[in-house]
Amino acid sequence: MIKDNLLQIKDNLPEEVQLIAVSKTKPIEMIQEAYDAGQRAFGENRALELADKFEKLPKDIEWHMIGHLQRNKVKYIAPFVHLIHGIDSPRLLAEVNKQAEKFNRVQKVLLQFHIAQESSKFGFSLEEAIEYLNGDEFNSMQNVEVCGVMGMATFTSDTRQVREEFHDLKKIFDHLKTKHFSDATEFTTISMGMSGDYEIAISEGSTMVRVGSAIFGSRN
Ligand SMILES: *Cc1c(COP(=O)(O)O)cnc(C)c1O
Repeated sequence: MIKDNLLQIKDNLPEEVQLIAVSKTKPIEMIQEAYDAGQRAFGENRALELADKFEKLPKDIEWHMIGHLQRNKVKYIAPFVHLIHGIDSPRLLAEVNKQAEKFNRVQKVLLQFHIAQESSKFGFSLEEAIEYLNGDEFNSMQNVEVCGVMGMATFTSDTRQVREEFHDLKKIFDHLKTKHFSDATEFTTISMGMSGDYEIAISEGSTMVRVGSAIFGSRN
């Protein structure tokens, strides 16, 4: 069933959109099943669970940290994590830079933006990001590479609102690309869209969708 779900979703994705299979809370066996069907990029939202799954599964998996990351947990994933989607504060990025330096890595990250109506969602505003990106602290970091932006839309059945929020994130990306990352060839990623809204996200310019329950079934 996992294989069928994967194939069906992939059939609907434009070629340039990468699928991250969100495997949080799901057992090793189910991830292996997706792996055997050809999937290589997986997303988790807890650092320790991610590190544990990294140990137990094939080493050519690309692991994505997609959720809110606490600074004291960065060290568990710093040696190997492929992309950290949820950079939502200067202090978190400073810690990621510090840990990446220890392992002689340049860590790929995305800046998370607050695009939803809900106050609980983490992330920068465009104004905060601009100020931060112009500052000395950001520009002195050697071990992080900002590859784009990430955001989550409001959890609502109002598709017009969801579309507007994704549209806002695309505008933020375009602004940063023009004003701050015009020379950065790696600044290409817009991570937006989940099981319930990835089709809207793609039509608004997403390049990376994070899909969990539509592949692995609902979580408890
Ligand atoms: C859980 C999660 C997803 C996937 O959610 P589904 O609705 O199961 O597709 C995507 N992004 C983030 C940040 C998540 O925490």
